[in-house]
Amino acid sequence: MPNALEGTRFHAYGPRHLDAIADRYGLPPDVRESMRRVSLVLPFRVNDYVLDNLVDWAAVPDDPIFRLTFPQPGMLPDSDERRLAATTGGRLREVVDDIRAGLNPHPSAQRSNVPVQAGAAVPGLQHKYRETVLYFPGQGQTCHAYCTYCFRWAQFIGDPELRFAAPEPSGLVAYLRAHPEVSDVLVTGGDPMVMSAQRLRSHIAPLLAVETVRTIRIGTKSVAYWPHRFTTDPDADEVARLFEDVVASGRQLAVMAHFSHPRELETDPARRALLRIRATGAAVYCQAPLIAHVNDDAAVVAELWRAELAAGTVPYYLFVARDTGPHDYFKVPLARAVDVFRTAYRTLPGLARTVRGPVMSAAPGKVVVDGVDGGFFQLRMVQARDPALVGRPFRARYSATAAWLDELDLAPDTPPDLAAACKPPRSAP
Ligand code: SF4
Repeated sequence: MPNALEGTRFHAYGPRHLDAIADRYGLPPDVRESMRRVSLVLPFRVNDYVLDNLVDWAAVPDDPIFRLTFPQPGMLPDSDERRLAATTGGRLREVVDDIRAGLNPHPSAQRSNVPVQAGAAVPGLQHKYRETVLYFPGQGQTCHAYCTYCFRWAQFIGDPELRFAAPEPSGLVAYLRAHPEVSDVLVTGGDPMVMSAQRLRSHIAPLLAVETVRTIRIGTKSVAYWPHRFTTDPDADEVARLFEDVVASGRQLAVMAHFSHPRELETDPARRALLRIRATGAAVYCQAPLIAHVNDDAAVVAELWRAELAAGTVPYYLFVARDTGPHDYFKVPLARAVDVFRTAYRTLPGLARTVRGPVMSAAPGKVVVDGVDGGFFQLRMVQARDPALVGRPFRARYSATAAWLDELDLAPDTPPDLAAACKPPRSAP
């Protein structure tokens, strides 16, 4: 393992570096062993910037960034950990696959939004909302580090059913020309910012020739996990030039930055990265899920949103964690999520009240829990596959434990179209 302080060259570390990391930071043997077992099942990737600037090693194992980035005790049921501990040799693969299959690796609708053009599925595309297409460039399907709650975790263990990736953008461009109603393209992954500037340009520049595309969004956690991407990486200037070119074309360029915890915005590299991005003319919108053990505290999310505003970015979405991976470890019941959101929201200055949540990105669309009243959750479709549902309020019976839309009983007065869209829902991208 290279010396962490050798500079700002990017190195990714995974399970085979666990001993080196544990030695470097003095992890207790029991924590190390449990991490080793859990990492057989769940993907793990980290880098020097996260290790040296974000994790508070004095607070391990309770540190939120440690729990955000490292598989560890409690993420799998005890029975599964015991099975892993008791299994060796050739049977281990079988046990790992069995445990993974029980973690809902394919939350529904991830594969159902793939559009068809001329009788064939368009590779690397999802078209869920009328005006928005998601684009998965083939070389951007990994991340600078992995979040342990990632709903695309199965993609990182090589699940062949989750290969959305497009090797190059000709299929996307043809689809956009045939669908002028699409004004927004969200370039996502993984993380598109793991690509070289040249590769990123090869995927994005062709979109500028499609007149109907007005907004290009880039979904990324690089500002949090590897801010050097925008400042000191060898091709950071080329990244800035690409962003400037998109803005100069008259398009809105939106960096959809994933920040889970205020600490991610506190470092000098992160501050410099945000200044550099904003200097290109790009806007930065911030979003993250509410995650137990990481940020499920009103004071923490309020601090996060205030830090985002102070950095000149726009607090945008607080999501509800999806039902996949170590969901029992990370989930926050909707009742608590709405309480955390409202408690934090009340403390915000007006300019930070751009944030929406808690929002479930579910099969029929994005459903926000606006509050609890008279024994019911007050719900609203803020985005929907069917435009006729957008903005419509509806209700579901209060539950102290429900953590997703499909665990709710809709009120008897729910309009039939909303009820049909919501049942039977499962989690979606
Ligand atoms: S940055 Fe996003 S895609 Fe990458 S591991 Fe985290 S949640 Fe998953």
